[in-house]
Amino acid sequence: MEISLVRGDITEQEVDAVVNAANSSLLGGGGVDGAIHRRGGPAILEECERIRSVSYPDGLPVGGAVVTTAGRLPARWVIHTVGPVFSKSQDRSGLLASCHVESLKRADEVGAESVAFPAISTGAYRYPPELAAPIAIAAVSGAGTSVEHVRFVLFDSAVHAAFEDALNAH
Ligand code: ADP
Repeated sequence: MEISLVRGDITEQEVDAVVNAANSSLLGGGGVDGAIHRRGGPAILEECERIRSVSYPDGLPVGGAVVTTAGRLPARWVIHTVGPVFSKSQDRSGLLASCHVESLKRADEVGAESVAFPAISTGAYRYPPELAAPIAIAAVSGAGTSVEHVRFVLFDSAVHAAFEDALNAH
């Protein structure tokens, strides 16, 4: 698998699947989630609502992932995953790793070969990028997936630098 890093906007990526840093409700939010629904249009939310009512009436658990259409985005699919909220008193790295592994499983199920990830949990969920980045890189490289290209799409320079350090150290 080839892992690359870019600075940019996840909604503009021309890949088979983009990953959404969603919340358990699957009904939209801010950050990446807001951008994906805004640019992807209502088809994504409609499918999220269906998945919610059929499979996850209590919400998608942290560390889980589901796949929907990508609506009007250049990608074909959106994989929605719920990152952990950062905690100083509890190690939630396993849940953050699970977001990446489960997302790649959904990618395998639909046959996506290229997947773009945002820096899950490093926004509203406050995970320090220098902690999140090595977890994300290790989880993706150890995932045992058929996905050939993983691109981390980092919105700001500090998060990009953290991922660059983590990739170099890996
Ligand atoms: P979480 O709730 O999992 O923390 P956020 O969406 O709040 O998710 O933030 C996750 C990361 O995505 C942050 O580093 C944020 O700066 C970044 N981000 C926000 N919007 C975009 C976007 N359109 N494309 C890529 N990354 C984004």
